[in-house]
Amino acid sequence: MFTNSQILFDRARQVIPGGVNSPVRAFKSVGGSPIFMKSAKGAYMYDADGNAYIDYINSWGPMILGHAYEPVLKAIQEYAAYSTSFGAPTELEIKMAELIISMVPNIDMVRMVNSGTEACMSALRVARGFTGRNKFIKFEGNYHGHADSFLVSAGSGVATLDIQSIPGVTQAVANDTLTAPYNNLPAVQQLIADHPDSIAAIIVEPVAGNMGCILPQAGFLEGLRALCDEHGILLILDEVMTGFRLARGGAQERLNIKADLVTFGKIIGGGMPVGAFAGRREIMEWVAPVGKVYQAGTLSGNPIAMIAGYTMLSTLDNNPGIYEELEQKATYLVDGLKKVFTEAGIVHQVNQLGSMMSVHFAEYPIIDFSAAAGANNELFKRFFHAMLERGVYLPPSAFESWFLCNALTQEDLDKTIAAAKESIAVIAG
Ligand code: PMP
Repeated sequence: MFTNSQILFDRARQVIPGGVNSPVRAFKSVGGSPIFMKSAKGAYMYDADGNAYIDYINSWGPMILGHAYEPVLKAIQEYAAYSTSFGAPTELEIKMAELIISMVPNIDMVRMVNSGTEACMSALRVARGFTGRNKFIKFEGNYHGHADSFLVSAGSGVATLDIQSIPGVTQAVANDTLTAPYNNLPAVQQLIADHPDSIAAIIVEPVAGNMGCILPQAGFLEGLRALCDEHGILLILDEVMTGFRLARGGAQERLNIKADLVTFGKIIGGGMPVGAFAGRREIMEWVAPVGKVYQAGTLSGNPIAMIAGYTMLSTLDNNPGIYEELEQKATYLVDGLKKVFTEAGIVHQVNQLGSMMSVHFAEYPIIDFSAAAGANNELFKRFFHAMLERGVYLPPSAFESWFLCNALTQEDLDKTIAAAKESIAVIAG
């Protein structure tokens, strides 16, 4: 059933570390060999053996409208003919910045980069430059890319592979990263009290997606905002997963929270390699060439990435009903899965906001990393494989959010729920 994927994986391991170009793809935590994909359309992906899957990863977020969305493909084809890179400014970059600013609250300026990692790394540098302070606070199980400073107590693949301290990240760098449990305001207050006038920023995933999907508890984000205001700290909302997914204006709009700096990633390229950081003019004008905080990129604002992202974001901008549709689909799936687990007597927690969700097999609410880590992740592994065999592609780790796309039909959701019922009967029976 997976013969070609197995052959490709054996070949890949000879020339690519672990056979993959990003660790979570390796199925390390769930065991077995990764599936090599060949094509995708709408809500479905097709592998090297011709198997079809309903996709709940959607390239880890960006495919909000589904794979190979026709207008995006057409735009890429048209613009590729003008050149795939100029290394000089284009009108397209202005249109992209103007569109992002019109959709997202509290931002006056945007700088495009090439990944979420670059966006977070650069936003932190700007916050340090602006405040003249070195330390920052991040949350256990949040992931902000693989820049050195963020790899302390990180979620996603770092959590999946259970890497405690990362060779290559120096102690000096790690010393400036302060960490607190997610949803724990007193721990943040304590860090601020322990390090007076030395914290430049608090960076947070407004809805966490890198330890499964974990929602901010009432008052958590508001509390961070108030602490930042009180202590001259900048609040960086990492909207790499939530931006343009939870709402047109991301978590800032959906959760009514105001950021000083915002970071975006994969979503704004419609699947092309892109990222961006944005904020108020007085902060963003610290960035070179206006200010001295140096930040650059040969391929930043790449025309193909810009037109792909612009086409997808304009579609979302012009069809705000998409967000309601996405949420209804997610809620339908969540209700269906809960029913399956309840009927089978399996303890479970299903977290959801908008089209982000995740399943944890635990009897207590999943509100932070230690709760997610303490769930029955052995059962999750078996559930993952049983679903895969039934044509449902879930994230290969309990420490990742599921992402829905709007190409999903009622029939796809029902198929998924039926697959879950069969899977649970097999693994728990
Ligand atoms: N921030 C968040 C919240 C993310 O989820 C990710 C990646 N999943 C990143 C930053 C890093 O983005 P990239 O992989 O594009 O570097």
